[in-house]
Amino acid sequence: MADKPWVAFYWCASCGGCEEAVVDIAEKILDVVEAVNIGFWPVALDFKREDVESRPDGFFVASFVNGAVRTSEQEEMVKLLRKKSRLIFAFGSCSHLGGIPGLANLYSREEIFDYVYRKSPSTENPGETLPAENSRENGNELHLPEFYDRVYSLDQVIPVDYYIPGCAPPPDIVMNALEALLEGKLPDKGAVLSPNKALCSTCPLNETKPEKLLIRELKRPHEFQADPEKCFLTQGLLCMGPATRTGCGERCIRAGMPCRGCFGPLDNALDQGLSMLSALASILDFTPQEKEELERVLGACPDPAGTLYRFSLPSSILKGKRRL
Ligand code: SF4
Ligand code: SF4
Repeated sequence: MADKPWVAFYWCASCGGCEEAVVDIAEKILDVVEAVNIGFWPVALDFKREDVESRPDGFFVASFVNGAVRTSEQEEMVKLLRKKSRLIFAFGSCSHLGGIPGLANLYSREEIFDYVYRKSPSTENPGETLPAENSRENGNELHLPEFYDRVYSLDQVIPVDYYIPGCAPPPDIVMNALEALLEGKLPDKGAVLSPNKALCSTCPLNETKPEKLLIRELKRPHEFQADPEKCFLTQGLLCMGPATRTGCGERCIRAGMPCRGCFGPLDNALDQGLSMLSALASILDFTPQEKEELERVLGACPDPAGTLYRFSLPSSILKGKRRL
């Protein structure tokens, strides 16, 4: 046990799917446990924060952090893990790019609290009590972490060495990353551990795309029965394949749904949403005189920010809603 390297797992603002993704490597997890000691994994093992604090700096060969950063506690924990780890892996879309929790950047902290604790149909809060960082109840003091005004991707808070993409990362991507770590075959630091090619380039439906793709309709998946054998974008479904990194095994496409973009942008793309917007602009077949018709068609995408930036808003150029 003493000779094996130590690793840590931690979660911040996430749904828990990334924790399941670790278990999804199935019986290969036995090889991992054989090769490393796990010294921190709050969802599965009873180590405490003090156990990490008591370790020397650089004690863990690697820490795998999933989830975005939204609270002061998460910031403290990832800074602690950075200090105690030689390598930090951002694990999954939320850690990599901000992810689904990052869509909260379309609202302020006050707007979120107002809706969740006052206005949501399922809220019963006659006193309109809001969470407070410090409060007193029956003579007891209660302290809660600060809820920040916005969501951050992990590398906006601490330096990150590698990124494991996906919502959640598929088992082969996780296993490849673990094997590269254990065999000392990791690429240069800063790498996203999946191929730097667009999903369209590996998609089985790519060959059904016409040579010059032009569309005059945008549709939503529930509005018609899409042909699962034909490129979804060709059918007017907003598929993020042109602006998304490959490596997932095209799992949504093979399940009959367009890509939503969870593997994030390619290395040279500044902003995944803008890349997709650019791809769309090049295939929407309208003349300048057809402005009204174009607006009608774009209206079929009622949530452009949530569609184009579903996983990447905090790491985009705008990072969230701008307030004047
Ligand atoms: S747009 Fe979507 S369905 Fe079409 S080739 Fe690209 S990934 Fe496949
Ligand atoms: S098809 Fe797109 S949304 Fe689905 S897993 Fe792959 S990258 Fe993620």
